[in-house]
Amino acid sequence: MLGKSALVTCHAEQPLDGEAWRRLRDLLRRRPGGYTIVPLLRPPDAGEDEATWLARAREAAGLGPIGLHTHWTSATHARPTDGDPAGRVSRELAWLRGHGLEPRLFCGGGWYTDDQVQAVVADAGLVDCTATTFTPPVPPPYRRVDGPSPGLLPTTHSLGMLARSLVGSLPDVVHVYFHDTELRDARRRLALLAALPLLSRRRRPLNIDSVN
Ligand SMILES: [Zn+2]
Repeated sequence: MLGKSALVTCHAEQPLDGEAWRRLRDLLRRRPGGYTIVPLLRPPDAGEDEATWLARAREAAGLGPIGLHTHWTSATHARPTDGDPAGRVSRELAWLRGHGLEPRLFCGGGWYTDDQVQAVVADAGLVDCTATTFTPPVPPPYRRVDGPSPGLLPTTHSLGMLARSLVGSLPDVVHVYFHDTELRDARRRLALLAALPLLSRRRRPLNIDSVN
């Protein structure tokens, strides 16, 4: 039973960006509102610095659970443009595990998903966070659902949506996401640091071990 609980994840789009990484690491350590923020990491693309990426991912993994955030086309183009989306997820999972990193959550870039990707994620034992309870600002395919189910922990709120919902109704299970790149903006950082303690009065931290 998940009960009235909340999960906070960060789509780590630019883990090689020094400021975005420092701000994210600070949040992982501070645990605002008592939440263990789960970074969903985009693995390095061709030409990106793997050694620095791995050092940062290992540091994040030492602070709590981590997840995989696949960008199919490039750092700045999340959705697939061709090829084999499920194959890329398989390769990234194998690469992470080959480097001693064990992601617990998965979120497809640009909210993209398909049956094969979902099967790879489920077979790997990851909790899928790609589905949303809101209509995402992208064209189909995306997966819209009403709430959690076994192996699925849909994303329910962006930071802006949470700020508006804190004065109103919240679903039993709240899953807030933000981007590491948002942390470079002082106003957004402050909004997050203000919102999470307020959220914690209404939703206790969700234990991802209770999802599967
Ligand atoms: Zn992304």
